[in-house]
Amino acid sequence: MLLSDFIELIYPRQCLGCGNQLLKAEKYICLSCLNKMPKTNTHFEHDNNIIRKIAGKSEVLNASACYWFLKNSIVQNLIHNIKYKGFKNAAKEIGIIYGKELLKSDFYNNIDIIIPVPLHISKLRERGYNQSEYFAMGLSLSMGKKLVTNVLYRGYATETQTKKKIYDRWLNVKSNFIVKNSHLINGKHILLVDDVITSGSTLTSCSDTLFSIPETKVTIATIASTF
Ligand SMILES: [Zn+2]
Repeated sequence: MLLSDFIELIYPRQCLGCGNQLLKAEKYICLSCLNKMPKTNTHFEHDNNIIRKIAGKSEVLNASACYWFLKNSIVQNLIHNIKYKGFKNAAKEIGIIYGKELLKSDFYNNIDIIIPVPLHISKLRERGYNQSEYFAMGLSLSMGKKLVTNVLYRGYATETQTKKKIYDRWLNVKSNFIVKNSHLINGKHILLVDDVITSGSTLTSCSDTLFSIPETKVTIATIASTF
């Protein structure tokens, strides 16, 4: 059993947003917090605050988040619990809820596959799980779309790359993702998934990497987004 599973067993009945005791029917987040968390509803808008973080850099079709991320908020508590306290299944639960919403949007009901942003291997070892993959699992369940985790990987700086000039190294960091098994995404409409979008640089870098494969389309969904 993973440590994170164990933690969920010990503390299964506290709201991850406000810390209050959960009722029997509530899962991870109490009803009061669920109602208070600010939904973005950006999945219905082609031009929105979230895609503007990507637009101009990448030809992403649409980008949306389930909730707005504000400092000292329920959403911030929830994300903290998901990322650092082992509550990975809460990300899956939000994926299940949000997937149902996304299917109501014409931007999202025609996607083919779901790909989570990979964690760096050292972070994955430290944390034991990729929270974005759990969010993607939930989306996959409720949207009925295949989860694909053997295509997008974090790249590694080779020895020759570390000897390059600073500017080249910066470029290398910017495009620090690689595609394997490209036949799996050729011609596919990909739903690229992450936990939080802030500057948009990670998702821009990921989508640019996916666009190197012919005929791919990319749409983005995250649990939360800053304004
Ligand atoms: Zn609560």
